[in-house]
Amino acid sequence: MTKLIKGKELSEKIVENISEELKNYTKKPGLTVIIVGDNPASRVYVNKKKRTAENAGFNSVVIELPEDVTREELEKHIDELNKDEAVDGILVQLPLPKHINTYDILERILPEKDVDGFHPENVGKLVIGLKPYAVSCTPYGIIRLLEENNIEIEGRHAVIIGRSNIVGKPMASLLLNRNATVTVCHSKTASLRRVCMQADILVAAVGREKFVKRDWVKPGAVVIDVGINRTEEGKIVGDVDFEEVSGKAEYITPVPGGVGPMTIAMLLSNTLELFKLHNDL
Ligand code: NDP
Repeated sequence: MTKLIKGKELSEKIVENISEELKNYTKKPGLTVIIVGDNPASRVYVNKKKRTAENAGFNSVVIELPEDVTREELEKHIDELNKDEAVDGILVQLPLPKHINTYDILERILPEKDVDGFHPENVGKLVIGLKPYAVSCTPYGIIRLLEENNIEIEGRHAVIIGRSNIVGKPMASLLLNRNATVTVCHSKTASLRRVCMQADILVAAVGREKFVKRDWVKPGAVVIDVGINRTEEGKIVGDVDFEEVSGKAEYITPVPGGVGPMTIAMLLSNTLELFKLHNDL
């Protein structure tokens, strides 16, 4: 029988533990999120991050900048936050408007305040197997889900569909660093279904509704669904056809309630770690 990997429950436990730990400290960790423009999905994510961080006992600030903000103005805000001792973590909500180069901005954040783990120094450390200041929240959350459910990683074949810098690539590094044999697929991959059928652990981060079907999945596989897609009826569904696949996989993450809540929990966990680093705790 297929077992559900319940990200919601684990994320609540992680946030609760963080909140308990914060009671030991006189200062609060500071998390500042910068949002540029009016993307409704970004706004929902940012509000959720702020609310969860505040409830857990963080000092959470959101800086809202207009769509036409210049690169120089945005960099000025980042420079100020880099200097501000009350700020432990800085997150620039993506995507940014087209006139601003995302990598210029991500590189401007001090690596030791880069709570999303997107700075090239942190990405580089992850790739070469050193400890970054922070690891990209979604893939890091997936590792926590696998570990918490005692799912073996070492020696297993992990197939990731998607090679974004946010999910696919850091996921590959994290799995490789734990001795999985990793295959990364993308839109130009030939015979995608056949590659996926070989996966012991299949991570779908494509951004396409119900993309992974029953006959893509090996019996007994672990299926991790990163996708967040809104159907025409307004329902949130993943990249995996949950109904079809759940009878065949050994483990599966539901959408919603799987990977999504872990992303915010890992954001708070990363902020706490940076706070402890900055305060020698
Ligand atoms: P991107 O759009 O950046 O990347 C999508 C990846 O999927 C690309 O590498 C692309 O290939 C690949 N892809 C697209 N179409 C196909 C196809 N037909 N066959 C094979 N590969 C394909 O998305 P993200 O990585 O940012 O996000 C992926 C999904 O995860 C989205 O649904 C997003 O909403 C969700 N997400 C969820 C989070 C959470 O907290 N749960 C956090 C972040 C994202 P190529 O590189 O060749 O274009």
